[in-house]
Amino acid sequence: MDLSIVVPCYNEEDNVKLFYQEVLKIFKNKKIKYEIIFVNDGSKDRTAEKLNELVEQKQQNIKVINFSRNFGKEAAMYAGLKETTGELVTIIDADLQQRPEIILRMIDILQANKEYDSVAAYQEKRKEGKVLTFFKNCFYKLINSISTVPFVQGASDFRTLRRKVVDAILEVSEYHRFSKGIFSFVGFNTYYLPYEVEERKNGTSKWSFWKLFNYAIEGIVAFTTTPLRIPFIFSFITLLVAIIYFIVTLFAGSNAFSVLLIIILFLFGILFALIGIFGEYLSRTYMQVKQRPVYIVKEKKESFKK
Ligand code: UDP
Ligand code: MG
Repeated sequence: MDLSIVVPCYNEEDNVKLFYQEVLKIFKNKKIKYEIIFVNDGSKDRTAEKLNELVEQKQQNIKVINFSRNFGKEAAMYAGLKETTGELVTIIDADLQQRPEIILRMIDILQANKEYDSVAAYQEKRKEGKVLTFFKNCFYKLINSISTVPFVQGASDFRTLRRKVVDAILEVSEYHRFSKGIFSFVGFNTYYLPYEVEERKNGTSKWSFWKLFNYAIEGIVAFTTTPLRIPFIFSFITLLVAIIYFIVTLFAGSNAFSVLLIIILFLFGILFALIGIFGEYLSRTYMQVKQRPVYIVKEKKESFKK
């Protein structure tokens, strides 16, 4: 198989057939052997039936994976990637906001440039409100300042990956998945292809502000343990104030209140430090429990003596 197309679907009853026809049209006269893997993420509408009809047409290599309930797009992408057999793998939404013909451009880029291992569609102009853009900017500033892997603003999940990148992503098997971070975590050379997002064909977006907010927290917690160091900052400040206050009372004379205050400040300082120490152990345990690969090999070269 040359190409596997992974399509997460949640309540996309009016889109899946349109999407499928688009893809058929685009690849019609191309010599690319491809399969489409639809992951029906516990849709509550007739998505499952529509997908079943496509399977029954037996026109194309199609796989449909039906989840037992809604597990979220991250889980759907992971399940889809596991099923892929193609040398190249594309992840694309079912709602036609991401034009399927861009897949051809992605393939061309990968074929022409051996040094790139993945192509990520990236939104230059954002079609969204100023408030949302502001919050997104804040999120990217924050996460990039505390995380060790970079997060590229505007980069979407719409990507075409070489097999080795897919295999690397599948090695990251953690439960709380945040794909924007995982794509960066696995490394490799990514080509960022600017594209414009279309309007959704049918149905509604599953993202509300609140969902996005939770997703942002998910990203931070999944990719950095820096917040666990916050108690050390408090500890430092509290102990510093305690010491200054102690020195001041040495010269200015003490009373019951100042002695009590110094004791409280010292105790809190020590308490914050101890919480910080807990955090250090917890962060290491957390990272270990995730069982992320310690390294990912890009390529190996060998030579043998003649
Ligand atoms: N999706 C999914 N599970 C979910 C939510 C969304 O599989 O719980 C799919 C959805 O069907 C679509 C893609 O993920 O194919 C992107 O979702 P959506 O269009 O709602 O996001 P937006 O384009 O608004 O960011
Ligand atoms: Mg969409």
